[in-house]
Amino acid sequence: MGFLSRFRRSTKTIGDVESISSDEDETTPYQDNHVTVDGEPHQIEVDEVESEWESTETIDLIHNDNDKKSKRLGERGKASQQTRKRASSTRPQTKLIPRPSKGISIEIGHLKEAKSRKRITATPAFEDLMSELEITLLEADMGHAAVDAVLSAMRSKLLGAPLPRKAEVGRILDSALISALDSLLRVSYWDFDQTVDSLLGEASPVVIMLVGVNGTGKTTTAAKISHRLIQRGLKVVVAAADTFRAGAIDQLSDHAERVGARCISSQRGGDSAAVAKDAIDSAVAKDDDIVIIDTAGRMQNKTNLMQELKKVHRVASPHIVLFVGDALAGNDAVEQARTFQTFLNFDGAVLSKLDTDARGGAALSIAHSTNRPIVLAGVGQGYEDLIDFEPSAFLTDLLSNDIDPSQFTIVEREANG
Ligand code: GDP
Repeated sequence: MGFLSRFRRSTKTIGDVESISSDEDETTPYQDNHVTVDGEPHQIEVDEVESEWESTETIDLIHNDNDKKSKRLGERGKASQQTRKRASSTRPQTKLIPRPSKGISIEIGHLKEAKSRKRITATPAFEDLMSELEITLLEADMGHAAVDAVLSAMRSKLLGAPLPRKAEVGRILDSALISALDSLLRVSYWDFDQTVDSLLGEASPVVIMLVGVNGTGKTTTAAKISHRLIQRGLKVVVAAADTFRAGAIDQLSDHAERVGARCISSQRGGDSAAVAKDAIDSAVAKDDDIVIIDTAGRMQNKTNLMQELKKVHRVASPHIVLFVGDALAGNDAVEQARTFQTFLNFDGAVLSKLDTDARGGAALSIAHSTNRPIVLAGVGQGYEDLIDFEPSAFLTDLLSNDIDPSQFTIVEREANG
């Protein structure tokens, strides 16, 4: 069964194509209460999201001076002092390097309009189609906000458009749907490797903090990212800052040994912020390039967890914060992402276990719900199984059981487009 099978069945059973249309002069322009820009669901710009890392707590000393920071980072051999200064500084906005991405679309330019000059309108038959689509998307475990955005984009694209010939209705619907899904995935899209490279030119070590709920694949992702960067010739330190979960420290140190990273840890129950600080001190002292901080994820005590994560963030002042979500968790992963985004402001998401997810709901919804893109995806349990999240590959795979893949056109999208 394909992702869209239910909706596809109903589009195929449109007996009378005129049931979704009316004469041109009867057409009421579509009034959409949802926010759309150029017919696409509007995504809030990154700058519109308030950074909450430092918003609720007073920070002793606030240094906003980039020059001071890079000079500090350039000084070797003053590890402790340097880290203390880092600890009390706010992180300047990390420059995330945007990446042009590939999207898919279905070309409809050559389709011929029927002679009757009828327009697609919100008839009961059209509304039935939209209801079917809504149910299909919810069954795929997409979040409500993302489903609303897709429906809104579909309406904007279709209502008022010339009624196509019967044979072409399916293709028009496919095209509208694909472009709506495609636009969900490309929110503020940035490139992981290029961003790390650009940061390495300015600061060393580059600090990456991973956040997310227990069991989502955070520790494995820390190992996979380490492996990816080590393969590129970089020296990596991992910080076992999940000092709460039994076994987390050993698990990370085992992974680190296998991928060739150094692991900094403390006793179970230790101060996670101190572990992060030690790891950065150690990286400075040994001239390592990257520090990856693995954090706790016990959502049963959300307030304490968020306070702990904020403290780690304040002390470590990471350049990149990544939320790790489990694709299998579907809408739960979306809710988790929203919660983390409310308390903390992450830069992008890693979607783990994409290899085991047939429904695609989390992948389609996280970016829309949090205004942060999925940048990396876990596609297996091996260290190599971490890929750049590519919207075209994901959508082609997801939709290929429903829509003839030969209809897809892969199109280069502008960065952030
Ligand atoms: P943590 O509690 O968030 O640190 O989660 P772990 O890193 O311990 O991962 C939990 C389980 O998910 C482990 O059995 C991992 O091997 C598995 N896992 C993590 N990432 C992936 C992935 O991309 N694909 C698959 N199939 N399994 C994964």
